Amino acid sequence: MLNQQEINYFEKVKTPFYFYDMGLLQKSLFAIKDAADLYNFHLHYAVKANANERILRTIKGFGLGADCVSGNEIQTALNNGFSPHQIVFAGVGKTDDEIELAINSNIFSINCESVQELEVINSIAKKLNKRVRIALRINPNVDALTHSKITTGLKFNKFGISLIDVKFIIENINSYENLFIEGLHFHIGSQITILDVYKKLCKVVNDTFSYFTSQGVRIKHINLGGGLGINYQNPESQIPNFLSYFEIFKDNLNVPENVDLHFEPGRSIVGQCGYLISKILYSKTEGNNNTLIIDAGFTELLRPALYDANHKIVNLSSRNKTEIYDIAGPICETSDYFGRAIELPLSKRGDLIGIYSTGAYGEVMASQYNLRSLVSKYYSDEIPLLPIAGKFLFV
Ligand SMILES: *Cc1c(COP(=O)(O)O)cnc(C)c1O
Repeated sequence: MLNQQEINYFEKVKTPFYFYDMGLLQKSLFAIKDAADLYNFHLHYAVKANANERILRTIKGFGLGADCVSGNEIQTALNNGFSPHQIVFAGVGKTDDEIELAINSNIFSINCESVQELEVINSIAKKLNKRVRIALRINPNVDALTHSKITTGLKFNKFGISLIDVKFIIENINSYENLFIEGLHFHIGSQITILDVYKKLCKVVNDTFSYFTSQGVRIKHINLGGGLGINYQNPESQIPNFLSYFEIFKDNLNVPENVDLHFEPGRSIVGQCGYLISKILYSKTEGNNNTLIIDAGFTELLRPALYDANHKIVNLSSRNKTEIYDIAGPICETSDYFGRAIELPLSKRGDLIGIYSTGAYGEVMASQYNLRSLVSKYYSDEIPLLPIAGKFLFV
């Protein structure tokens, strides 16, 4: 949580900005690494959750690989020291250039999402005179029981290969001369909090694996995707329970020991270490309705406008008795709200507002709509150490 020294520092710098608690990021990384090592699971951090260089370098330092969904993400991962042998590449719309970059970089696996893409990768590999490691991203038709805009594993989502097409691929497997089809990939969605859905996923994985084996196709590795949710209501429960998450797979997957298991966590690693810090510009009262206009908008944090997400919002400057507020940004769009009917201490122009749990899908989605400046960022380990009077306020 934020301490008084950090809040004092925030008073002095221009808002809005992202603040990253690097200690918390490290704690989360220790936790997930320890839990994964227990079962020899391989981790690829989902770069799309937060591609900030300091964050990437910290994650790389813990030995994780990278899960990329564009050519630029592959390049960024490589530039920040990730080993190509730990990079996987998914996405329904890979361009020829991106496929070529992936092949030339000799990454661990291209996770292929359709029959046509398989043919394109095969022909590009042929042109480059290479043979490429492929995992098939299977659409398991498992409901992740999360927001519809972050559900990816249902039959009519655009992601993954259907079981009918899988049959076709297996029948024609010898025609892909420039591919090694050796992996299976599944990713059913994001911000998953009902862990039982992973048990359903395990069942589909077991069935799919057996089917490939029965058809004489040897699968060397299975990638179970990401999606583990975080607690947005209570960011104080900062580190997700990685042990019980991995245990579900350990207990429910039924594949031989020599099949490597891979995971692609994004949000669960970086979500809680980020804060969006903003200042109140204006307050408006209309009848019984109080609205605070802050200097951050959906250009800095898109999740509330895009996914109806609710982040914990805290007035860092005031501890007065409370009032009910709507909290809006400055962007000329009606969707530019961070929360409705939020209880906050009596708030006024100039108060600092902290929006919590914004480390994932925050900074990385920032835009310059309304020609706003791109959001700036600060890190807990770069805050000058000033002597602190008083005790920690928000622990
Ligand atoms: C987005 C994504 C992830 C990461 O999801 P989180 O919910 O952030 O853990 C993993 N794998 C793929 C293929 C993705 O698209």
